[in-house]
Amino acid sequence: MLQAKDEEEKLVSLVQMSRKQVEKWRKQKFFCPICNQTVQLKSGRIRIPHFAHRSDQACFFKEAKESEEHLSLKTALVEWCLRDALDHQLEAYLPLLKQRADILIDRFAVEIQCSKLSIEEMGRRTASYIKNGYQPIWICGEKTWNSGKNSSALRKFCAYSESLGFYLWTADWREKKLYLRYHLESASANKLHYASKCWHFGEGRLDELFNKITKKNLFHFRKYDSRQEMMQTYQELYRKLRGRVPDILAIQSLYYQNGSHLLGLHYWFYYPINQLILFGKSIFLFKYHFWKWLTLNNRKTVTEAEIFDFCRSCIQREKLDQLFPLIPFSSLVQWQTHYLIEGLIVCHILIIEGEQRSFYIAIDPIDCVKPHSVIQFNDTKNITEVVITGTPLKI
Ligand SMILES: [Zn+2]
Repeated sequence: MLQAKDEEEKLVSLVQMSRKQVEKWRKQKFFCPICNQTVQLKSGRIRIPHFAHRSDQACFFKEAKESEEHLSLKTALVEWCLRDALDHQLEAYLPLLKQRADILIDRFAVEIQCSKLSIEEMGRRTASYIKNGYQPIWICGEKTWNSGKNSSALRKFCAYSESLGFYLWTADWREKKLYLRYHLESASANKLHYASKCWHFGEGRLDELFNKITKKNLFHFRKYDSRQEMMQTYQELYRKLRGRVPDILAIQSLYYQNGSHLLGLHYWFYYPINQLILFGKSIFLFKYHFWKWLTLNNRKTVTEAEIFDFCRSCIQREKLDQLFPLIPFSSLVQWQTHYLIEGLIVCHILIIEGEQRSFYIAIDPIDCVKPHSVIQFNDTKNITEVVITGTPLKI
């Protein structure tokens, strides 16, 4: 904690206090603003001065031990607010929610995340903020950001706007920079692609950053080579099957029961662009159900509304929205519908009918690949080589 109450019940903050000043308080008594127990003023040589409960004390606001990074980032953000004379509250305890925001700026409840946090806990805190009229802003620290890049661990911190796509905030306490990572996409091999915009601490007003950024059109174009992406996905799948990875074997047995093989499907199944961030490992399960639905009774056309309904019931059934506590359910469904249709068009399965909201279904059996270690495309098919993504596309 960076603040505590003194004996006169006055809130004392350690932000912008020199070590000399802090030293003078050494003999004073301080109390936790939440539970009123005495807290210790810690001011060693290495870590930033801070208050802490004794280890045998239980504070009813459960507080994880704060790292140097967490304390530094809190200090830096408070200094940023002070610079602009911005109304803010450090370590704002909200009794109704039984939650403490690291910093409250207007209605923005800023939470700095430097350690592991379960999706349940994150979801609970986020929902409670939103329910009570606050807008949570999660800022990922160094470790959270770096270790999450190759896994789905970062999904829970993602917000969404039409102009930024999936986005999140990160901070680098050593370089003193705040980053916006936007148009987050995962293509093959679970690798995250994104664009970044950064601000030095103190550059621009924090409330304006949080307020305006989602409405800005920060366009960013990323080119994907669809063939190459498909090949990578295919080869990864091949390796996993050979390595007998349990998740993949379970999905393979489902395809097998249906008379098909994971390595011998229509090449659309291996098209990964903008499909993985939502579904992660279960993408082949989703595609299995979608294909079954699309090819049911040999129908000839499908509408965008029908695909939207399919995506909605699937996301609902799989409870995928719970993986993204910051994103409204309807936005997820819209996003998924949009990129699913785009992938189907790129892979020549859907052909736009005269009217844009309806499509012909054109499945050519020749487009099914033969199980092999390398994907074999039918060369006469002109697969869109480069897909440009990273901005809302018009189909
Ligand atoms: Zn306490």
